[in-house]
Amino acid sequence: MNKYEAIIGLEVHAQLLTKSKAFCSCSTVFGASPNTNTCPVCLGHPGTLPLLNKGLVEDIVKVGIATNCKIRPISSFARKNYFYADLVKGYQITQHNDPICYNGFVNIELDENERKKIGVTRIHMEEDTGKGIHDLDIDSLMDYNRSGVPLIEIVSEPDMRNANEAYKYLTELRRILVYLGVCTGNMEEGALRCDANVSVRLKGATKFGTKTEVKNMNSFRNVEKSIEFEIARQIEVLENGGEILQETRMWDGQKQETRTMRTKETAIDYRYFTEPDLIKVSVDEAMLASLTSQLPELPLNRKDRFIKEYELPAYDAGVLVEDKSIADYYEETCKHLSSKNPKTYKLVSNWIMTEVMRIVAEKNVSITEIDLAPNLVAELVELFADDVISSRIAKDIFPEILETGISPKKLVEERNLAQVSDTASIEKIVKKLIDENPEAVEKFKSGNNRTLGFFVGNTMKLMDGKANPKIVTEIVNKYLANS
Ligand SMILES: [Zn+2]
Repeated sequence: MNKYEAIIGLEVHAQLLTKSKAFCSCSTVFGASPNTNTCPVCLGHPGTLPLLNKGLVEDIVKVGIATNCKIRPISSFARKNYFYADLVKGYQITQHNDPICYNGFVNIELDENERKKIGVTRIHMEEDTGKGIHDLDIDSLMDYNRSGVPLIEIVSEPDMRNANEAYKYLTELRRILVYLGVCTGNMEEGALRCDANVSVRLKGATKFGTKTEVKNMNSFRNVEKSIEFEIARQIEVLENGGEILQETRMWDGQKQETRTMRTKETAIDYRYFTEPDLIKVSVDEAMLASLTSQLPELPLNRKDRFIKEYELPAYDAGVLVEDKSIADYYEETCKHLSSKNPKTYKLVSNWIMTEVMRIVAEKNVSITEIDLAPNLVAELVELFADDVISSRIAKDIFPEILETGISPKKLVEERNLAQVSDTASIEKIVKKLIDENPEAVEKFKSGNNRTLGFFVGNTMKLMDGKANPKIVTEIVNKYLANS
C-alpha cells in the first residue's frame, strides 16, 4: 500500500440559488408539484429561444473570484448532444472550450499548521436536466421542474493525494459556496453533487495511472469512503498483475463498494458545437469590480483574522467561522463588550460555542432565529468576567434572559445574585465546615486533594452559589494548611 500514491481530481456540480431558471423565467423553487415550474423554453418546444439569466453569470463570477480564478471577458455556450428521457431538447446547454472561470485554486487545511493549494482547472455554467421517477407507477414518470435549473461545474486539478484531502477540498468548497450565498451546499438534496477521478501510481512515477470516474456519492462521508475503496481496489488489481480499465464506476452505498457503470467503449461522443441560440457572455471590468466588492470575507481568511484580532485559539476560530451567521454573531457580541481584551473575547467564544450553540442545536434553527440580542450575551459574559456573578449563576439565569430578553445586569440586581467577595463572611463558613469535618481535614493532610473540592463545594452551597469561587478556594487552602 505504501509504495503507491493516489491521484484524485473532483468534478463538483453546484445548484445555484437564483430565483429563476438559467434560460427562462420559470421558478427554481424546490418541492413544487411535478411539471408546474415549466414553460415552452425549458420543455424544449421547437421555435423557442433561451435567454440567459444575469444572476447565473453574477453568481459564477463570484465563485470564480472566491476560488482565485481568472475570469474570461468573453465566453460562449455550447450544445452537448445526447439522448435521454430527462433531457427534453436532446442536448444540454453548457460551456465547453471557453469556460467563464479558469486557473484558480482553493486552500485546504491539512492540519492546524499546514495548508495545501488545490488547483481549480475551470468553472463553467450549464443547465440541469429533468428528473425521472421510476418507483411511483408501472411506467417511468418525468418531472421537468428541474429542467433548466442553473448549475455550475467546478473541475479541480488532480492535486489530491488521498481520500481525506478530497473530503477537505469538497467541504472547503461547500463552505465558500455557502458563504457566498450562491448554493445551499446540501448534498443530500442534490444541491451539491460530486464525481471523483481516481488513479494510483507507484510513488516517484511521473506518469499518471489509468483513471476511473466514481459517481453517485451523495454525502460528504460517502465521497471519502468511495475514494478510499477505489484506491484500495486499484492497488489490489495492480498487485495481482492486473490492469486498470478506464471506466465509470458507481458507488453502492449499501454494499459499500464501487462497481462498473460503463466502460470506455460505451463512452458517448457528445458532438459539442457552439450554441447558436445564445450570444456570447461578456464580463467587463466594471462588473468584475462591482462583484468583487460584494464578496464576503471567506472562511479561511476570517479564521486567520479571528486568531489574530481576537487572539482566539485556532480551534475556537475554526468552530466559529464554520457557519457565517455564527461568526457574524460572535463579532457582533464582541462589538458590545465594554472591555475589549483577549480574555473577554475568549469568554464570549466559550459562551457562544457551548451555551448559545446548544440552544441552536436543541431548537434546530439558525443562530439568527433564536432571538437573543448579541448585546445581552456581551453583558452576561462581562458580568462573570468581572467576577460580579459566578459562571454557575450565569448559566442558571441564561434561560430566563433567552426567554424574556431581560438585561442580565438588571436581573442580577433585582434578584440580588451578585457574588460575595467579602472575605470575612466566607471565612466564617469555611472555618465552621473545617471544625465540623475533622475526618475530611485528616484526609487532606494525608494527601487526598479531593477533600479540597468538598470544602469549596460546600462553602459555595451554603452561600447559595453566590460566593466568588476563586476567593473561596484561596481561603479553604489557607485554613486547611493551618489546621
Ligand atoms: Zn421554463
